[in-house]
Amino acid sequence: MVDATIPVFDIAVVGAGAVGLALAAALKREARLKVALIAPPAHGAPDRLRTVALSSGSRSLMERVGAWEALQPLAQPILEMAIFDGTPQDAVRIAQLRFAAPKGGELAHMAFNDDVTSALARAAETAGVVRIDGAVEDFAAGPFVATLTLGDGRPVRARLVVGADGARSKLRGLAGIATTGGPTGQAGIVATIAHEREHEGRAEQHFLPAGPFALLPLKGRFFSIVWNEPPAEAERLCALPEATFIDELERRFSPALGKLRRIGEARAFPLEFRFARAYVAKRLALIGDAAHLVHPLAGQGLNLGLRDVAALAEILAEQLRLGLDPGAREPLAEYQRRRRFDALTSGLGMDAMNRLFSNDVAVLRSLRDLGLRVVDRAGPLKRALIAEAGGDGIGAPRLLRGLGL
Ligand SMILES: Cc1cc2nc3c(=O)[nH]c(=O)nc-3n(C[C@H](O)[C@H](O)[C@H](O)COP(=O)(O)OP(=O)(O)OC[C@H]3O[C@@H](n4cnc5c(N)ncnc54)[C@H](O)[C@@H]3O)c2cc1C
Repeated sequence: MVDATIPVFDIAVVGAGAVGLALAAALKREARLKVALIAPPAHGAPDRLRTVALSSGSRSLMERVGAWEALQPLAQPILEMAIFDGTPQDAVRIAQLRFAAPKGGELAHMAFNDDVTSALARAAETAGVVRIDGAVEDFAAGPFVATLTLGDGRPVRARLVVGADGARSKLRGLAGIATTGGPTGQAGIVATIAHEREHEGRAEQHFLPAGPFALLPLKGRFFSIVWNEPPAEAERLCALPEATFIDELERRFSPALGKLRRIGEARAFPLEFRFARAYVAKRLALIGDAAHLVHPLAGQGLNLGLRDVAALAEILAEQLRLGLDPGAREPLAEYQRRRRFDALTSGLGMDAMNRLFSNDVAVLRSLRDLGLRVVDRAGPLKRALIAEAGGDGIGAPRLLRGLGL
């Protein structure tokens, strides 16, 4: 028996990571829906380790939901990206492929994940999203509404529930959605590094035999590293004293930035590659890491999640404009049709690239170096790759093109 005294939201978004916050803010601000956002209250000091790259499409979405103004002063534009293929033993390493930003523009922006979520949380609050503190423990889909039960027993009802609860999604499990994929056998080391000379907005990606090593510029004279190694080696490197850690770092990229200093600790985490077999179930849609966990190689994890946000928001706004049920089967099937293929091809592409580059087999090395040089000399191909990474071309959902719903 459904308790009629409990309010029914149009949409209940579970998870207050960047993806869940962006969807809640977009639906409230752009489509005036009744939106609840459920997540455990954040506690502890801000995490100054995890950084994200925002593509031009993601930036447009951030602008549209009212979060960009707060984030822009904290975000570093990437003006150039240089790609290298080599080993730590090479005396000199020359970039095989370079991407430069168009005049007056940028390739992407780098920011701390915490700064992105803070800006989005303020935008969601200003828009009037109802924030409910708590962890979801149960989910039941009925014919007209779904009911969530929080850890303390409180129920929340909504016509559609959106699972934005991250890689270990509780909702995905409660809905019985299986996943494919698993650990990649690599671990990612993240650290923030201070340096002497200006980085001038240059990002570097080094394909080393153990896996990719990325150096991503942050605001000021700081950069973030994402460095892949086998798990045991990653643990050893993170436990090194700072001076030895910096020596190891200096063996892996060009020393153009002067003296380096590590800010805080270095942390290693296992890398996984995982896809939900379905993105929807009865009165449920999954977005972000709950739907797909990709290799951080091309910095596309959050961008893929924001592409889910833009597609789902557009479909739901249209459904409600027509006075139809947002949790009905057809709009959910449409969302799955639009997003699953894109996320799967992007994820598989990154995994294939990781496998192709993470070795020192001579034949593969010369083939991939040839491929990088061909791309470097082919102007139209380079421009097409930049546009594809931006995610805001013709046919992209409206929010990624900076348009209203
Ligand atoms: C080292 C590293 C580097 C990365 N670099 C990049 C990069 O350069 N560019 C990029 O685009 N992406 C990058 N990513 C990926 C990116 O960080 C993620 O894709 C993105 O943050 C996922 O956002 P999300 O909102 O889906 O999930 P999360 O950020 O994991 O948020 C999940 C939310 O759900 C909540 N939650 C969980 N369980 C429950 C529950 N039962 N009830 C209620 N709430 C719940 C959590 O509290 C949290 O608020 C990187 C990831 C890593 C690990």
